[in-house]
Amino acid sequence: MNAESFAHCEKLLPSSYVKQAHQALRARETVIRTFIEHRRWPEEGWDDATIELLLHEFAMMDSNNFHGNCGVGEREARFASDLVARRHYRMGHGIGRSGDVTAIQPKAAGSSLINKLANILVTDAIKIAGARTISSSFIVPMATGMGIVLCFLALRNLRPNTKYILWPRIDQKTCFKAINTAGFTPIVIDNVLEGDELRTNLVQIEEKIQELGAKNILCICCTTSCFAPRAPDRLEEVAIICKKYDIPHVVNNAYGLQSAKCMHLIQQASRVGRLDVFVQSTDKNFQVPVGGSVIAGYNKELVEETSKIYPGRASAAPSLDVFITLLSQGVKGYKKMLADRKEMFKYLSEEITKVADTHGERLLKTKNNTISLAMSLSQLHGDTKQVTELGSMLFTRFVSGTRVVAHDSPDKEVAGYKFKNYGAHTDQYPCTYLTAAAAIGMTKHDVDTFVKRLDKVLGKCISKSGDKNQVNQKPADETLVKHIDGLSVNDKDSEDKDTCENEEPVMDSVPQ
Ligand SMILES: *Cc1c(COP(=O)(O)O)cnc(C)c1O
Repeated sequence: MNAESFAHCEKLLPSSYVKQAHQALRARETVIRTFIEHRRWPEEGWDDATIELLLHEFAMMDSNNFHGNCGVGEREARFASDLVARRHYRMGHGIGRSGDVTAIQPKAAGSSLINKLANILVTDAIKIAGARTISSSFIVPMATGMGIVLCFLALRNLRPNTKYILWPRIDQKTCFKAINTAGFTPIVIDNVLEGDELRTNLVQIEEKIQELGAKNILCICCTTSCFAPRAPDRLEEVAIICKKYDIPHVVNNAYGLQSAKCMHLIQQASRVGRLDVFVQSTDKNFQVPVGGSVIAGYNKELVEETSKIYPGRASAAPSLDVFITLLSQGVKGYKKMLADRKEMFKYLSEEITKVADTHGERLLKTKNNTISLAMSLSQLHGDTKQVTELGSMLFTRFVSGTRVVAHDSPDKEVAGYKFKNYGAHTDQYPCTYLTAAAAIGMTKHDVDTFVKRLDKVLGKCISKSGDKNQVNQKPADETLVKHIDGLSVNDKDSEDKDTCENEEPVMDSVPQ
């Protein structure tokens, strides 16, 4: 309401009440004005009412919400369902224009503003997370894999005659498939085992560059966040190689934004050598639904070119989700999330160590990986059936996100390339192990529940593997209904599944 409306209100209510209410409203509007004026991520998080006030105002700036608007085009942001309209705060124009996701939408000033501001917020977030000197970043309404494809395609315009992408092996299919989807030939660089840790093979990278010729290589594509016992790639050393041979350097930073270590590696790499762009997931780092990624870089033109090759318009939903989330958290709330995660990683590692000790196993030493942990399962002797069963038993106990990897996992073909021992990031890892991650948003309760269930499951599986002929002994009168965190589980079923003997594997025990 404007000042005139308030003046009219004073004809209906005592003016002191109206003045006070007017002031209260102005306080919210000042918060909004300050944000738009300075275009910086607010230190304090906003309450939902302020965020909604802003969203409603922005929505009213889109042509589909204009009073008396007469749409005669084929795309007029119409809603057949009011539920859908409300789900999107009545903004339906999406983002971008034919051929550029960051371009302004003439029919949708409000949506365009949200998109611009969301990109500013996310750039601030990446700087705060540790990549302090990035030039820019933008949200792509596609998950990380397709975001990486976009980067490859943008680089192709600069290096049209290249054919290869050097890729230190990580057994997660997305990035490998992205290389194929973009039309390049992946050159897999084997990892090297250092202690328990799998690390980047720098010697092989240089050998391959010499063998294939730098001018034929589109880029080197490294990975930060990954399952232990793989460590984040040696970004600094690779960046120096990239600079030496004038080869672009793309980094898959899928969930690395939440790790000070990954972000430090990125920042350092750009300082000592060459790092062009890095891509991260919006859902894994900001706790929003799957659907977006952020492309960030140290080269403003390249980031801009990347946004320009996106054909057509795009969904505004990923940007809107990030916009709302970052305003709601504020810098303070986000920093607290990062600090809590770090604590939780430490706690998870202590608790897994205890369970490991109890069962004669150990936490693998992977000091460079500050998100994922791995615990040996040497007593399972890599027996594929038992390994799958262990994963399966955890799965039936509502434990999600752990992975059990046998020391001789089966081979797997991904996009026409045959990987030996797929899941282990290497042709041969010395032992079978289980991984767990302390990712942003994980609670102490998650850790406590996980280690309790893990302890129980290991008790059954390891004793079983010690004496295969022993029948699973269980008191006949064990209660029929067991409660797992308030969820009643039909005990007969799930207890039968604990035999580690005759169970159909229900979980993929290797990374997807
Ligand atoms: C999540 C993830 C990706 C990206 O997967 P999307 O489904 O495209 O988001 C790529 N690499 C790694 C290591 C990941 O963890």
